[in-house]
Amino acid sequence: MAHKICVIEGDGIGKEVVPATIKVLEATGLDFEFIYAEAGDEVYKRTGKALPEETIEKALESEAVLFGAAGETAADVIVKLRHILDTYANVRPVKSYKGVKCLRDDIDYVIVRENTEGLYKGIEAEIDEGITTATRVITEKASERIFKFAFELARERKKEGKEGKVTCAHKANVLKVTDGLFKRVFYKVAQEYKDIKVEDYYIDAMNMYIITKPHVFDVVVTSNLFGDILSDGAAGTVGGLGLAPSANIGDEHGLFEPVHGSAPDIAGKGIANPTATILSAVLMLKYLGEHETANRIEKALEEVLALGLTTPDLGGNLKTFEMAEEIIKRL
Ligand code: ATP
Ligand code: MG
Repeated sequence: MAHKICVIEGDGIGKEVVPATIKVLEATGLDFEFIYAEAGDEVYKRTGKALPEETIEKALESEAVLFGAAGETAADVIVKLRHILDTYANVRPVKSYKGVKCLRDDIDYVIVRENTEGLYKGIEAEIDEGITTATRVITEKASERIFKFAFELARERKKEGKEGKVTCAHKANVLKVTDGLFKRVFYKVAQEYKDIKVEDYYIDAMNMYIITKPHVFDVVVTSNLFGDILSDGAAGTVGGLGLAPSANIGDEHGLFEPVHGSAPDIAGKGIANPTATILSAVLMLKYLGEHETANRIEKALEEVLALGLTTPDLGGNLKTFEMAEEIIKRL
């Protein structure tokens, strides 16, 4: 049976990096049915809707969604889509590749960010003139499911030879009630995973450790806003936005997208780095249970990066599609 994938190119370089990634996927020999759907600025200008009903239906009907980028309408598109698909775990691998300028050459961990609550609930108010508040929501239920997800991921990685450790980042010394609960639930869930090592750090210390000792981490789990900030910093330690993939995973759906946006400054020039989107497709293949194919693509990509056969952002002189071709040659 073919894997049914909803493909949303979106805006800007999404129209370049997604087709390049589809080429790589098609070259693997696996059977896919790609269902194309629209979202973002362009369809908004044409129809008044950034995320048309038809796109939502196609996303809900597919096994997975591969997403490029949305420009100014990003919040209306991707935040809404994550919500509709209830993808509660945002997964961002942080890994150094040979040939790419990284802080160290042995970085390999994954940040798991809670995707549904925290300060992203959007509960803000002006309670008096000049006095505003934002409500930080942390629930036992959402914390439990994100920790379980992190521990399951650590188990999977342990099978592949990783350490088998989960690090929880929080600010329980200041946010005594919300992160007090968060930390408590972390150690409660840890009881069910005695085979996995555990530790916890304050988010500010964690922010230093991803610079000073990034090689010691395996799975790092944290709340929504902390994860947002931590993961962009982490991407910076391993070559930047052109290389950073992400997965949004729930119990029923998976949505895979590069961390970068539509990059209007380079859109239409054919020079965007397709790596972040290709690595997002690798995460998608693992989600679909196609581990062998996922590993084949990652290995081919590793060779291409090591040889410096890259787009200009990494110092090479290839175009988006040429880089994809180099990967395809090595599949
Ligand atoms: P958006 O509002 O859609 O996020 P942006 O202007 O914030 O757009 P980003 O896509 O977030 O742009 O990119 C930030 C910077 O990183 C830009 O200068 C962009 O050119 C660069 N960049 C992002 N993605 C890539 C990529 N895949 N290849 C090369 N450079 C990239
Ligand atoms: Mg951006």
